[in-house]
Amino acid sequence: MARIKLHGVMKRYGTATALGGVTLSFRDDATTAVVGPSGSGKSTLLQMINGLIRPDEGEVRLFGAPIDYGRIAEVRRRIGYAVQGTGLFPHLTVEKNIGLLARVEKWDRRRTAERIAELIRLVELPPSFANRYPHELSGGEQQRVGLCRAMMLDPPLFLLDEPFGALDPITRREVHDEFARLQRSKARTIVLVTHDIREAIRLADEIVVLRRSAVAQAGPCDEVVRAPANDFVRRLFEAQLR
Ligand code: ADP
Repeated sequence: MARIKLHGVMKRYGTATALGGVTLSFRDDATTAVVGPSGSGKSTLLQMINGLIRPDEGEVRLFGAPIDYGRIAEVRRRIGYAVQGTGLFPHLTVEKNIGLLARVEKWDRRRTAERIAELIRLVELPPSFANRYPHELSGGEQQRVGLCRAMMLDPPLFLLDEPFGALDPITRREVHDEFARLQRSKARTIVLVTHDIREAIRLADEIVVLRRSAVAQAGPCDEVVRAPANDFVRRLFEAQLR
């Protein structure tokens, strides 16, 4: 059974439709990229999965049950969430930023310290960075810290909203390699929102293409690239892969 399922999920803001009755299953232990033009509903879709937004109609199911919005904190414990711009707290050190959720969970000091050290190693930051503040790191380094924080509790689901968006091309390449290594280190269900088709192809197993709040195509990456379901998808890929 898929850990993430949406059934007829609809969300409106006034007269604008952010998601128009979307039905989707995400493949377990795989990375799915959600692509589409600006305003097509990508972030709304991700926030639906995280329970940050409730659908007006339809249902989001996680781990086989509808999201229990009354116990959303518990739901989020199993979800790693990283957004563009990293969302790190400027007045907390790298170590404190990464360990935030463990503190909420009341992990003991030793277990927390060991996990933080492990994560810092995993993303190949120098151990001494643990005591720095975010502003003392480059954009790419901050991004890695953001990934560490999302991974702290080793969640089975991982939601990433344009996590590499602010990076220059070279750093972006490096962080992509990092990300690919993380994917290989353990099977996880990852949903990655991006407007960058190349990034989607490089990192994802599956692709969901959104157009105007609806799914234009969903399927394995190579299939979507090889056989676009319609002109919209074909043009989107052609425009960016030229
Ligand atoms: P994307 O992530 O693909 O750029 P979004 O999911 O952010 O798209 O937005 C989808 C549509 O819903 C857009 O037309 C956007 O303007 C609208 N929308 C999203 N959030 C809000 C909001 N809080 N209030 C009003 N309209 C919103």
